[in-house]
Amino acid sequence: MSTTSWQGRHVAVAGLGVSGIPAARALAGLGARVTVVNDGDDERSRAQAEELRSEGITVRLGDGDTLPEGADLVVTAPGWRPDKPLFAAAEAAGVEVWGDVELAWRLRGPDAAPWLAVTGTNGKTTTVRMLASILQAAGLRTAAVGNIGVSLLDAVLGEQEYDVLAVELSSYQLHWAPSLRAHSAAVLNLAPDHLDWHGSMAAYAADKGRIYEGNTVACVYNAADQATEDLVREADVEEGCRAIGFTLGAPGPSQVGIVDGLLVDRAFVENRQKQAQELAEVSDVDPPAPHNIANALAAAALARAFGVPAGAVRGGLRAFRPDAHRIEHVADVAGVAYVDDSKATNTHAAEASLAAYEGIVWIAGGLAKGATFDELVQRSAPRLRAAVLIGADRALIREALARHAPEVPVVDLDRTDTGAMPQAVAEAARLAKAGDTVLLAPACASMDMFTNYTKRGQAFADAVRALAAERA
Ligand code: ADP
Repeated sequence: MSTTSWQGRHVAVAGLGVSGIPAARALAGLGARVTVVNDGDDERSRAQAEELRSEGITVRLGDGDTLPEGADLVVTAPGWRPDKPLFAAAEAAGVEVWGDVELAWRLRGPDAAPWLAVTGTNGKTTTVRMLASILQAAGLRTAAVGNIGVSLLDAVLGEQEYDVLAVELSSYQLHWAPSLRAHSAAVLNLAPDHLDWHGSMAAYAADKGRIYEGNTVACVYNAADQATEDLVREADVEEGCRAIGFTLGAPGPSQVGIVDGLLVDRAFVENRQKQAQELAEVSDVDPPAPHNIANALAAAALARAFGVPAGAVRGGLRAFRPDAHRIEHVADVAGVAYVDDSKATNTHAAEASLAAYEGIVWIAGGLAKGATFDELVQRSAPRLRAAVLIGADRALIREALARHAPEVPVVDLDRTDTGAMPQAVAEAARLAKAGDTVLLAPACASMDMFTNYTKRGQAFADAVRALAAERA
């Protein structure tokens, strides 16, 4: 989009924050008149506002709900709920609303790099980073962008040139990105999350499904999650675009999957009825937990859709190291493995990591965000050696354990203070036998006890290291 097309336009940017501030600057840089509106009027926003004002940007603090006079476009932070009055005002005035992703998409140059996009309830960051690693191994100029690494706007407007981008998209971002058209896209899984924001499971699924709209080469779905396949069926794609499934079982034609410990492609081969291409070994995936192998398969499918050779899939997966606090092995103490999956902030994620081990002493609890734990406990019960519960909503987990796994010993720490973690680890160590895994997979958000999941994971790792030093 040329600079001239922005001159004379008046854009309302909704929300000072990680997406709002760069969006406001980019638009002002293109010649638009920009007014930032923000609900908060605290010290931090005032400092940010001051800086933006010095750059010629208007900022209105303490009122994010009134459409600025004369605005002809709203660019919103993705987290702003669709039922906010600002959007009703925009609609009434016939003013379009774009999110940060839509803005980046529209600002791409004519020869811009295509996007390989990933969404899902869990596994997005991991999959996008695996994908970028594979693309790099193929010698392509790429970056993992979206909620991670480089910001989308920087990737689109910056100096650096790319051949292809690996893009992580949240359901919020997809909601506000009506014209996005990815080269290929994957929905990893679909479990209830953020329903208060979207209004219903159907609306949440529909927003996730937008990622497939207009795909040109492949819509990648999870063969074990019918809802993701349904989204492909409902999508309006370009002629010739294919549905590609990933499965932890043996792949059928047009699928990638697992055969005898190998990641195998039966989608991007010449004769998919007869041919299968080996991509990598399961042991190339770090960690080789089932859900993470699924992430690797999804990343491989997207890379293959882009024409990446099999060898680069292997090279990229081997070079990949997971981010901290995602099934991170912290230490072995007295024959017991201690694993930090603090990032398992919902039941779907926790279920995935509990499925990866046998003989688990499970440390769980925190803020449940309206979740129930019956299914999680039912499915995981056979692998539980014991449970240690912490945090504000621990009673919900304790009750689910009493209902579905009464034989599993439970220690309820009755603590919600930050200092509870060493005690939780000590209790877990007491309950674990050699060969077991002590797994922090809280299935809850952390904010009742910690600033964020990172701090919670660090507290766990510190406690484990102290235990290791004590026992050494
Ligand atoms: P996201 O970016 O979607 O939040 P991450 O890659 O950061 O996902 O992983 C978050 C957590 O979700 C991990 O700690 C792990 O417990 C869980 N997880 C990762 N991949 C999957 C998957 N494919 N299915 C279910 N849970 C997963």
